[in-house]
Amino acid sequence: MIGIIHHPDFLKHDTNFPRPHFESFETPERLAAVYTYLQQKEIFDLPGIEPILAKPIKEKDLYKIHAPYLVDSVKSLSKIGEGEIGAHSYASRDAFDVAKLAVGGTILACEEVLKGNVTQSFALIRPPGHHAGYSKTEGLCIFNNCAAALLTLKRKKKLDRALCLDLDSHHGDGIAEFFYSDPSVMYISMHEYFNESEKGGIFEIGFGEGEGYNVNIPLPFLTLNRTYLKSFQKIVPHVAKEFNPELIIIAMGFDTHYADPIGNLRLTSSLYATITHQLKKLAEDICEGKLVFVLEGGYNLLGLPKFVEIVIQTLLDHKIEFSDDEFPLEEINTDNEALKRVNMLRGILSKYWKRF
Ligand SMILES: [Zn+2]
Repeated sequence: MIGIIHHPDFLKHDTNFPRPHFESFETPERLAAVYTYLQQKEIFDLPGIEPILAKPIKEKDLYKIHAPYLVDSVKSLSKIGEGEIGAHSYASRDAFDVAKLAVGGTILACEEVLKGNVTQSFALIRPPGHHAGYSKTEGLCIFNNCAAALLTLKRKKKLDRALCLDLDSHHGDGIAEFFYSDPSVMYISMHEYFNESEKGGIFEIGFGEGEGYNVNIPLPFLTLNRTYLKSFQKIVPHVAKEFNPELIIIAMGFDTHYADPIGNLRLTSSLYATITHQLKKLAEDICEGKLVFVLEGGYNLLGLPKFVEIVIQTLLDHKIEFSDDEFPLEEINTDNEALKRVNMLRGILSKYWKRF
């Protein structure tokens, strides 16, 4: 059984930011398009699908995750109905309520899997969360949905050890910050990477007790499916198996697709099926299939609903047709640059993990 977390209130929180600003891409239309498409294709009615209505996190529990100042400032800017919460993150009248619902929906997605009510789940929520740190919010995010879910479940003693794999096109610096010294949550991020002048490089490996538990797989701009998969296979299954988590949570961004207006990678939609299939197998090998997908980025309104469907259909072991694989992408070979970094990373990780 696959749980799909949704709620009509995710179609609120509209900052009305003027196009073509970066901030204008994270809109209610994203989930409106996904929900409408899934309804039209009767995905919610398929055998093996359990639609689950998201519930907001309680306010007092939110104060246990983020800095009280951050929570209060989101709350007060939401009352005003506008204002900059952080860099590239804006408030609306519904921002606080919808952000609480996104955190609560992510917690529920994990809880349902941990309880065994569903085998896997997909939290179709917004706004995204992976750039939000303890006391700051930025990059279209408000609260950190994935980190908040893991911290809440750990606090309630429902979870000891989790792997968080971030497949959004951007480095999830917020999640990394939350768990940088914490060996109970391994954070692996695969992301576009311009050069060494930015966060998300291979030498950021965690600190103190968390050393070896923060893994960055930086990918050159224009990376294609083939290079992406090779990079994934050379790192992720090895550390995941040795770390042996009780749950795998995927910060799933679809801004890695070539037609995304924000992302700089060049993946096609068949990659989402391949990677979902491999993650399902990995979760079955390690943690009885306990796998949770949480929506992060993905801003191509025509593509996003199909990418979400691909993940769901793959989890159901259904075959899917891909319409974008024939698109004539310029063959730029990013293999050398990507694999040079991946091999260096394997060398660094060999100090902590026997499988390298
Ligand atoms: Zn992103």
